[in-house]
Amino acid sequence: MPASRVLDDLLPRRSGPLPRVAVIGAGMSGLALARVLTGAGFGVRVLDKGRGPGGRLSTRRSAEGGTFDHGAQYFTAREPLFRTLVEAWVAEGVVAEWHGRIGTLTRGAVSPAKESERYVGVPGMNAVAKALADGLDVRFGARVERVERDGRAWRLTSETGEDLGLADVVVAAVPAPQAVPLLAGAPALAAQAGSARLSPCWAVMARFEETVAVELDGAFVEDSPLSWVARDTSKPGRAPGERWVLHGSPEYSAAHLEETAEEMAPKLVEAFGKALGRDVRAVEAVAHRWRFAMPSPPLETPALFDPALGLGACGDWCAGPRVEGAFLSGVALARRIAER
Ligand SMILES: Cc1cc2nc3c(=O)[nH]c(=O)nc-3n(C[C@H](O)[C@H](O)[C@H](O)COP(=O)(O)OP(=O)(O)OC[C@H]3O[C@@H](n4cnc5c(N)ncnc54)[C@H](O)[C@@H]3O)c2cc1C
Repeated sequence: MPASRVLDDLLPRRSGPLPRVAVIGAGMSGLALARVLTGAGFGVRVLDKGRGPGGRLSTRRSAEGGTFDHGAQYFTAREPLFRTLVEAWVAEGVVAEWHGRIGTLTRGAVSPAKESERYVGVPGMNAVAKALADGLDVRFGARVERVERDGRAWRLTSETGEDLGLADVVVAAVPAPQAVPLLAGAPALAAQAGSARLSPCWAVMARFEETVAVELDGAFVEDSPLSWVARDTSKPGRAPGERWVLHGSPEYSAAHLEETAEEMAPKLVEAFGKALGRDVRAVEAVAHRWRFAMPSPPLETPALFDPALGLGACGDWCAGPRVEGAFLSGVALARRIAER
């Protein structure tokens, strides 16, 4: 089955007047939800403040023209529906298995990690989001600031005061702290979202002239300000080069959260050298602050929804962390909206 049909055909197609749905956030959860409901015949509009789809499934261009996956590094697929979708994407070349050597790095000492199927988007992680967004009504560059009652519907307004239209059902598919103000019309849901915590992550995109000599392409780092490093160029379909992504640990990232990107890049490159047990010199190193990177821990609910009010929220902080958890949360909320 083509990947596009896996979600489009998930629910029976409805006819007759259906509620208009607005989805705030074009990350994995919002796009999965929008895809399922659009396939079922609902009129769905997605709004995102970014320039393209993906959210934390993100790919950045480097100065020499290559790319970095500076958010999600890879994903696993365990639940049957997600596996079906991922297998269809693999057949279509949107996703490939990453056969990089994964292990643990502790001050120069290397040990292998447990075997696992690890998937990545091709040629970058955001390829998955682009495939999901294809054919949907998505507007970028629109940061929703207010969701307010207007008769029986909800009116969405941007941070610049622009009227973003009316919807009968509004979904905040954004990290929990960003969902809180958007759920003001449903105080019980806002309180639940307000109780979810996401840890931050400083990510550094580093390019090296020489191959970094280590028998690993991805490593969980111990005893270090870093928690993860990956040779981005070892992933399938990437432009050649020696590009690495370095992730600060949640504790270290939180302690240095308000420092500047210029301060953080050299610190984490130095930490990389210490983890390897030798100095390394990057020819390019750019840091990015993810203020809300990973739920810690997620709420134990697939998604939030008030059917009477027509307000809901989904994301990795609901059902389970990570890309697959975000996907499942979006699909779960789509089912609830369709049942409403
Ligand atoms: C550094 C890092 C490493 C990670 N590593 C992995 C990994 O290896 N494997 C894995 O499975 N997962 C990983 N994750 C987690 C994974 O990326 C997330 O679980 C998943 O992508 C979350 O999807 P989402 O739809 O819930 O939210 P997001 O991807 O955050 O999407 C939310 C979207 O909402 C938009 N938005 C926010 N507020 C507004 C607003 N007011 N108006 C309009 N738009 C708005 C944002 O621009 C964004 O596009 C990592 C995350 C980070 C940051």
